[in-house]
Amino acid sequence: MPRHDREEVARRAGHATWREAVEATAHLSQQEAGRALGVSHPTVRTWRTELGLGVSARRSGPQAAAAFREDPTDPRHGSANGYRNLGCRCPACTRAWTDYQRARRTGPG
Ligand SMILES: [Zn+2]
Repeated sequence: MPRHDREEVARRAGHATWREAVEATAHLSQQEAGRALGVSHPTVRTWRTELGLGVSARRSGPQAAAAFREDPTDPRHGSANGYRNLGCRCPACTRAWTDYQRARRTGPG
Protein backbone atom coordinates (compact mmCIF):
# COMPACT_ATOMS: atom_id res chain seq x y z
CA MET A 1 0.00 0.00 0.00
CA PRO A 2 1.49 3.38 -0.96
CA ARG A 3 2.49 5.61 1.90
CA HIS A 4 -0.03 8.36 1.09
CA ASP A 5 -2.83 5.82 1.35
CA ARG A 6 -1.57 4.77 4.75
CA GLU A 7 -1.67 8.36 5.91
CA GLU A 8 -5.18 8.70 4.58
CA VAL A 9 -6.28 5.55 6.41
CA ALA A 10 -4.76 6.90 9.61
CA ARG A 11 -6.49 10.27 9.26
CA ARG A 12 -9.85 8.60 8.59
CA ALA A 13 -9.38 6.65 11.84
CA GLY A 14 -8.72 9.88 13.73
CA HIS A 15 -4.91 9.85 13.87
CA ALA A 16 -2.55 12.56 12.67
CA THR A 17 -0.07 10.21 11.00
CA TRP A 18 0.28 6.58 9.98
CA ARG A 19 2.99 5.99 12.57
CA GLU A 20 0.86 7.49 15.31
CA ALA A 21 -2.08 5.27 14.31
CA VAL A 22 0.04 2.12 14.46
CA GLU A 23 1.57 3.08 17.80
CA ALA A 24 -1.81 4.08 19.26
CA THR A 25 -3.24 0.64 18.44
CA ALA A 26 -0.13 -1.35 19.40
CA HIS A 27 -1.81 -2.68 22.56
CA LEU A 28 -4.67 -4.20 20.55
CA SER A 29 -4.66 -7.54 18.79
CA GLN A 30 -4.03 -7.42 15.05
CA GLN A 31 -7.73 -8.04 14.41
CA GLU A 32 -8.84 -5.31 16.80
CA ALA A 33 -6.35 -2.82 15.44
CA GLY A 34 -7.43 -3.69 11.91
CA ARG A 35 -11.05 -2.94 12.77
CA ALA A 36 -10.08 0.31 14.51
CA LEU A 37 -8.09 1.50 11.51
CA GLY A 38 -10.26 0.04 8.77
CA VAL A 39 -7.61 -2.30 7.34
CA SER A 40 -7.05 -6.08 7.30
CA HIS A 41 -5.08 -7.68 10.12
CA PRO A 42 -2.20 -8.82 7.87
CA THR A 43 -1.82 -5.14 6.98
CA VAL A 44 -1.60 -4.31 10.68
CA ARG A 45 1.08 -6.97 11.08
CA THR A 46 3.07 -5.54 8.19
CA TRP A 47 2.85 -2.02 9.54
CA ARG A 48 3.88 -3.09 13.02
CA THR A 49 6.83 -5.01 11.64
CA GLU A 50 7.97 -1.93 9.72
CA LEU A 51 7.92 0.11 12.93
CA GLY A 52 9.54 -2.65 14.98
CA LEU A 53 6.42 -3.07 17.11
CA GLY A 54 5.00 -6.39 18.26
CA VAL A 55 8.41 -7.98 18.60
CA SER A 56 8.06 -8.17 22.37
CA ALA A 57 4.98 -10.37 21.95
CA ARG A 58 7.21 -13.28 20.90
CA ARG A 59 7.70 -15.73 23.71
CA SER A 60 11.03 -17.23 22.75
CA GLY A 61 14.48 -16.18 21.64
CA PRO A 62 17.34 -14.31 23.29
CA GLN A 63 15.42 -11.04 23.52
CA ALA A 64 12.51 -12.70 25.31
CA ALA A 65 14.89 -14.38 27.76
CA ALA A 66 16.63 -11.07 28.47
CA ALA A 67 13.29 -9.34 29.02
CA PHE A 68 12.29 -12.10 31.43
CA ARG A 69 15.49 -11.80 33.47
CA GLU A 70 15.06 -8.04 33.76
CA ASP A 71 11.46 -8.29 34.93
CA PRO A 72 11.37 -9.47 38.58
CA THR A 73 7.55 -9.59 38.52
CA ASP A 74 7.45 -12.26 35.80
CA PRO A 75 5.63 -15.28 37.27
CA ARG A 76 8.13 -17.67 35.68
CA HIS A 77 10.77 -16.72 38.26
CA GLY A 78 11.25 -19.50 40.76
CA SER A 79 11.08 -22.26 38.14
CA ALA A 80 13.67 -24.68 36.81
CA ASN A 81 12.64 -23.48 33.35
CA GLY A 82 13.57 -19.91 34.30
CA TYR A 83 17.03 -21.07 35.36
CA ARG A 84 17.82 -23.58 32.64
CA ASN A 85 16.01 -22.36 29.53
CA LEU A 86 15.83 -18.64 30.20
CA GLY A 87 19.21 -18.31 31.84
CA CYS A 88 18.03 -16.51 34.98
CA ARG A 89 20.29 -16.73 38.04
CA CYS A 90 18.11 -14.88 40.54
CA PRO A 91 17.78 -16.52 43.99
CA ALA A 92 14.28 -17.87 43.24
CA CYS A 93 15.26 -19.51 39.96
CA THR A 94 18.55 -20.82 41.36
CA ARG A 95 16.71 -22.37 44.29
CA ALA A 96 14.09 -23.92 41.99
CA TRP A 97 16.87 -25.40 39.88
CA THR A 98 18.77 -26.89 42.85
CA ASP A 99 15.50 -28.31 44.21
CA TYR A 100 14.79 -29.79 40.78
CA GLN A 101 18.25 -31.38 40.62
CA ARG A 102 17.89 -32.72 44.15
CA ALA A 103 14.51 -34.25 43.28
CA ARG A 104 16.07 -35.95 40.23
CA ARG A 105 18.75 -37.52 42.44
CA THR A 106 16.30 -39.12 44.83
CA GLY A 107 15.11 -42.64 44.15
CA PRO A 108 16.99 -45.59 42.70
CA GLY A 109 20.35 -44.84 41.13
ZN1 LIG B 1 14.62 -15.68 38.06
